Amino acid sequence: MRARWLGVLLGLSAAPIAHADCAVELFVLGAGQDAGAPHIGHVDDPAWDDPALRQTATSLAVVDQAAGQRFLFEATPHVTQQLRMLDALAPHQGAGLGLDGVFLTHAHMGHYGGLMFFGREGAGAAGIPVHVMPRFAAFLRDNGPWEQLVSLGNIVLAPLVEGEPTPAGARVTVTPIRVPHRDEYSETVGFVIATSAEKTLFLPDLDSWAEWESATGVPLSERVRSLDRLFVDATFFDDGELQGRDMSEIPHPRVVHTMDRLASLPDGEREKVLFIHYNHTNPIRFTDSEASREVAERGFKVARTGDRFCLQASDF
Ligand SMILES: [Zn+2]
Ligand SMILES: [Zn+2]
Repeated sequence: MRARWLGVLLGLSAAPIAHADCAVELFVLGAGQDAGAPHIGHVDDPAWDDPALRQTATSLAVVDQAAGQRFLFEATPHVTQQLRMLDALAPHQGAGLGLDGVFLTHAHMGHYGGLMFFGREGAGAAGIPVHVMPRFAAFLRDNGPWEQLVSLGNIVLAPLVEGEPTPAGARVTVTPIRVPHRDEYSETVGFVIATSAEKTLFLPDLDSWAEWESATGVPLSERVRSLDRLFVDATFFDDGELQGRDMSEIPHPRVVHTMDRLASLPDGEREKVLFIHYNHTNPIRFTDSEASREVAERGFKVARTGDRFCLQASDF
């Protein structure tokens, strides 16, 4: 009974299941767009009445179960709830938040706004390493309210270098890859999360595949083949989704176009792709929608809050 109540509270479809024999696990703590769902000002959203339909902003966690280390990807405005979920799925020992590092893709509110909860008015955290690109680090260091987190030592900035792996514990590395996106305050990156035997790409926000392919020189289909798992931007399912708006000038690859682009890949490649960061208007947020069925029928997946993956490795 308690487990079911906890599952509903945390937005999990099932009670947590222990993976005792998995050394490193990846968890999906949230899969929505920055502002989540129900969306501010949208009084008709069914999620107001049904908590199971709510979406928190996109976030992942990687847990080294053997070493007892936990790493967070994105600090969202829903970090309080998401950390509670992580505590239920992968409890930590000792005081504090139990975070050994936080990796941030870019300075848009849904991806870093939750840092505020680490500060004096919230957790009063001590020395949490925050891994960001150099311009993002300067932005946090030089602008309030973020600079207070730095000056009080709630967080410690750990600048990343594009293309260079940074350790997340002894068994995982995280490598930033630049991504074309609106870069008002910071660079935007995706992260390759690697063990000795497999690689996951976390790419929650980008403007277009064409720009990304020309910037990196690697076609998306080839990228899929080189990875074991990809979490990719699914902000919008298709054009026409924003009522009364011409979407031709609005960035983000549509889910249908990403599926078209990868349609010729074999089953084993397409099933590596998990759609994440869905807007409140995107019908894939509902598990029983026609759009969710279409994604499954075409051999792709939708990342869901509470999903967990055992990261394989050759050395543990
Ligand atoms: Zn976003
Ligand atoms: Zn963004």
